[in-house]
Amino acid sequence: MTVIPPFDVTEQFKTLQVDVNQAVAAVLASGQYINGPSVTAFAHAFGQYVGTDHCVVCNSGTDALYLALRALNIGPGDEVITPAFTFIATAEVISAVGATPVFVDISLDTFTLDCAKLGAAIGDRTRAIMPVHLFGQPADLDPLLALAHRYKLAVIEDCAQATGARWQGRQVGSIGQVGCFSFYPTKNLGGCGDGGAITTNDPDLAATMTMLREHGSRVKYHHEAIGINSRLDSVQAAILAIKLRYLEDWNQQRGQIAANYHHLLQSVEEIACPQGVTFGQSVWNQYTLRLTRATASGAERDRVQQLLRDMGVITAVYYPLPLHLQPVYQYLGYQPGALPASETAAHQVLSLPMFPELRLDQQEQVVDRLKQALVKTGLTAVRAGGAG
Ligand SMILES: *Cc1c(COP(=O)(O)O)cnc(C)c1O
Repeated sequence: MTVIPPFDVTEQFKTLQVDVNQAVAAVLASGQYINGPSVTAFAHAFGQYVGTDHCVVCNSGTDALYLALRALNIGPGDEVITPAFTFIATAEVISAVGATPVFVDISLDTFTLDCAKLGAAIGDRTRAIMPVHLFGQPADLDPLLALAHRYKLAVIEDCAQATGARWQGRQVGSIGQVGCFSFYPTKNLGGCGDGGAITTNDPDLAATMTMLREHGSRVKYHHEAIGINSRLDSVQAAILAIKLRYLEDWNQQRGQIAANYHHLLQSVEEIACPQGVTFGQSVWNQYTLRLTRATASGAERDRVQQLLRDMGVITAVYYPLPLHLQPVYQYLGYQPGALPASETAAHQVLSLPMFPELRLDQQEQVVDRLKQALVKTGLTAVRAGGAG
């Protein structure tokens, strides 16, 4: 049985192998492993790509978010609004700077912040809103920016899953005060290890983030703040600079794959396909659908996933437990039912294999087996003419 993986980072490497090996060898030979010229060059190229005046590169998407919050002086006593349905890093950094996350529900159509719920979450202590462009889909920024303007809140975009996504023609990461990116290998622009970047048009913020990233120092061995060590390796920068040239093509291929899935799945009533074009253009980091008949235990969805695995199709569940119900956030006092769309998503979502090199015949197999699994679990009524 040939296995269809959820992602495959080795395919990309094969096509870029000669260039990448050469670039890595050049960095290794130069001896400039930290903050070398490849780092400066990539930071410049990435800032230009996103369309901001400044780009500060760092060690991960998590650090990017952390540095942004620190540079905005957000800390103890402050609240930051963020969706309950996202990767832990988004909220973790709010806690790491000593502030308190305030979780808001999502829209089930887009998996991004439900802006109708945003107003009620804003209070005296709110300092920032951190929208997440989840799965590649830009969040609903119009009402969000209006509220941020009215209440003088910073907007920190979590672009970790959305490098290259557009909102009203503009790149995500160029719209709020700060955009935070991850170059984790499975992101749209993925390195061969960890990496991150922060984009902004504010020169002071950029300088502060650079200072914080270098142990709180602007002048070597003079420290004005408690910072961290968060640099992008020269080797990673050299690799990312090569990959950046292919990003638009890869995102387009992802778009084609999403369109194929839509087409293949449209006849299955019990599946809600992701839209991806609701607010701007998704870059399809994930193709995440909902099994609309799966119930609150998540058991049916898990069984579908297991059956698919048995048939050689590896899928993923992003995310099985929303953040407001995580053990680590119990102290905030959210009860089950508090954020119903996030909770529904958590037990209904399934992310199908998605990477630029995924072939149409593989997609057809994925969908075929998914339909079989739905019948076996009773999530699809068997209609005349088969299981479709
Ligand atoms: C991947 C990811 C991050 C963190 O990025 P790392 O580079 O892994 O630290 C943050 N937020 C979201 C939504 C992510 O998917």
